[in-house]
Amino acid sequence: MHLEKIRLNGFKSFAQSVAIDFVGNMTGIVGPNGCGKSNVVDAMRWVMGETSRHIRATTLEDVIFSGTRTRKPMGQASVELIFDNSDGRASGNLAPYSELSLKRIVARDRESRYYINGTRCRRRDIADIFFGTGLGSNSYAVIEQGMITRIVESKPEEMRAYVEEAAGVSQYKERRRDTENRIRRTRENLERVMDIRDEVGKQLGRLRRQVKSAERFKRLRKDKERLEAELLLLRHRRLEEERIAVDRKADELRLDLEKIQAALREAEADAEQKRVAAQEANDALNRMKEEHYRLAARISGE
Ligand code: ATP
Repeated sequence: MHLEKIRLNGFKSFAQSVAIDFVGNMTGIVGPNGCGKSNVVDAMRWVMGETSRHIRATTLEDVIFSGTRTRKPMGQASVELIFDNSDGRASGNLAPYSELSLKRIVARDRESRYYINGTRCRRRDIADIFFGTGLGSNSYAVIEQGMITRIVESKPEEMRAYVEEAAGVSQYKERRRDTENRIRRTRENLERVMDIRDEVGKQLGRLRRQVKSAERFKRLRKDKERLEAELLLLRHRRLEEERIAVDRKADELRLDLEKIQAALREAEADAEQKRVAAQEANDALNRMKEEHYRLAARISGE
């Protein structure tokens, strides 16, 4: 893998889009103090995931062109590294690509976005490409001003880190650290799962008791419904019996009434006959009285 080109836009002193080609095996960047040479190195480290200290920035926004007297500040910074991968040495599924583009963009108040060949990826995905290659955000392959002195004067522990990176051991150490972290996280997750299981176990006990209560409630409600139905049936039967008795009584009374009415009708007919007979007797009496008076008058007249 060989760095072919670096494109900077809005990164530190590079206000406008600049592309620097790295042709051949050796490329030098020369210029007066303060012209931005180290910013190119910072840009390389930045794309590879470096955060702040090693690229001379305090905050993420410090890498965005902050403006000059004659130029307005930029809203975002982007750096793209183009690698020639015709030897197919890039790891994993990137091996078939003859060219690799790694890009990082940051806008004000927004977190960094990373891209591999135009596809959004994690910072970690870019770091993975460089593990054990000697290249990387903080590796010995990017030698900046003062770094030789730092390497020469480095403490045994720091020197060991450089040697391990050169020997390709660092990638295994990193993987081991990764694996250990994953194991630790898995253990923590396991503990959490156990806690949750205990908690769920307690809830399960409570739920079981609630289920029992609910079942008992259902049973009792069914019993209550059955008893209410039976009670209704009994009431219905009793009312039916009462209705039959009342009907019977009504029939009897109706019969009595009919008898009384028949007797009444007979008595009325009898009374009518007697009234007619009395009238006839009265009429006969009157006629006899008239006859008597007429005879009496005749007798006294003679
Ligand atoms: P030296 O040789 O002195 O180390 P250099 O050529 O390596 O210098 P750099 O240190 O890369 O130069 O660049 C420093 C310049 O970049 C300074 O002029 C500084 O003002 C400018 N600079 C750094 N950050 C920004 C920024 N965010 N916006 C605008 N300019 C910036």
